[in-house]
Amino acid sequence: MDTTPDNAPEEKEEPPTVYFDELDIADEVLDALDDMGFEKCTPIQAQAIPPSIEGRDILAVAQTGTGKTAAFLLPILTDICDNPPTKVATIVLTPTRELAMQIDRQLEGFSFHMEASSIPVYGGRDGHSMAQEQKALKGGAPIVVATPGRLMAHLDMGYTDLSEVRHLVLDEADRMLDMGFVNDMIKIIDMLPKENLQILFFSATMPNKIRKFSRDILKNPVEISIAISKPAEKIKQKAYYVADWAKNALIEEVLREKCKTMDRILIFCGRKKTVRELTRRLARKNPKVKDVSSDLEQDEREERLRQFRSGAIQVVVATDVLSRGIHINGIDLVINFDVPGDAEDYVHRIGRTARAAAEGEAITLISGDDRRRFKAIEELMEMKVERLEVPDRLKDNDGGRRGGRDGDRRGGGRGRGGKGRSGGGGGRGRGGKGRSGGGGSRDGKPRSERNDGGKARSEGGGDQKPRGERTRSDQPRDPNRKQRGQNRRGPKPE
Ligand code: AMP
Repeated sequence: MDTTPDNAPEEKEEPPTVYFDELDIADEVLDALDDMGFEKCTPIQAQAIPPSIEGRDILAVAQTGTGKTAAFLLPILTDICDNPPTKVATIVLTPTRELAMQIDRQLEGFSFHMEASSIPVYGGRDGHSMAQEQKALKGGAPIVVATPGRLMAHLDMGYTDLSEVRHLVLDEADRMLDMGFVNDMIKIIDMLPKENLQILFFSATMPNKIRKFSRDILKNPVEISIAISKPAEKIKQKAYYVADWAKNALIEEVLREKCKTMDRILIFCGRKKTVRELTRRLARKNPKVKDVSSDLEQDEREERLRQFRSGAIQVVVATDVLSRGIHINGIDLVINFDVPGDAEDYVHRIGRTARAAAEGEAITLISGDDRRRFKAIEELMEMKVERLEVPDRLKDNDGGRRGGRDGDRRGGGRGRGGKGRSGGGGGRGRGGKGRSGGGGSRDGKPRSERNDGGKARSEGGGDQKPRGERTRSDQPRDPNRKQRGQNRRGPKPE
């Protein structure tokens, strides 16, 4: 019986937790996830992985930071384990080199226990790398992660055999269109064999032109939308109303405090000139402040990001070149030195912190002209960002004061957007074959609390060796998986 009083606040139903080892992911990939300490799916993963493994096309609206890379890589790697390719089998198209490299890095982790090589193909490097890419493409590297222009340059030369390509991922499709890659993308898609091609289409936004483009190329896709334009709840967002003349002093003051306790701080500026000037100013007080903008050579940019990751650089000042896609663990704070162009940019910028499980903080400096724009961003996010008060000496005659603290006005209407989850439900019982421990459905407890000592997925298959001793050939093959592989090669659902 429901005993909830009528006037009690309505409780939001938490989507069920889905564990990776409940899904039909290949053992080799599960082992890698284990190594990486990933056990629970993010919402995009819970929704996208099961239909992708079944071979369905996917149309997903999801931003970076949601775990979308694993959402498309894990099903692909599962298929590659089931049906090892001899030629290029997967093409991942992505708008920037940084994203290509980042996807390649994740790929390396997820494919650690399998024999699948990948090759990142992106411009801006020397002739040597072009030759290396050419060699890998000629040799039939199973997975190619590429920017469209660079891949097209290779394809034009005719040495890449695309006849066995069976997965195409469009990552950040909206951005690829914005960057003018549409013709290259269409040309590449036209060159791929259509019959068995599975397309996984990921976009941070879904304006009409993207929807139309997706309709042209996808077959009966499963549509998934993950909380668009709303930043993760675990990012503590704050903002100052501050006059332009006081911004530099304010940011110095903020950094003086934050640098005592924080390891990685990322500051975004809208213009390269501002990046240069601000970096010069801040670096006088803290030599661990560096800039990253498109002015730098590719190698320098990579080196700076490496140093930021390692902790040798504490504060990076950047343009929006870093606002999407780049994952650096443990960014504690993002500061917007100015209000970004629109809500999407804002969400992308502040999404650099609080990735996956971590918490993070975001501070935005709002000067007079930017107030209206920031209000519009708040409306789109359906939330009010907490205002902080600038120190008296930095207050304008009126400006600073108007931004008085307004308490905790965050919240309201920020669901997690995870609707229609396909994880956790029926149809996934593995009926004693392989990984889920012989009993079919799970007990819903986290692994650490289960009394099987966290070994659920290696039971049920009979006389298995411990994971470390197993080799590819003596791993139990799930007959269902083979079946799925065959299904995948059948006609697609219309
Ligand atoms: P992405 O949205 O793909 O850029 O992923 C953001 C970050 O979250 C990446 O560094 C991933 O390694 C990490 N990540 C992805 N999936 C999970 C997961 N299920 N659990 C913990 N971290 C994850």
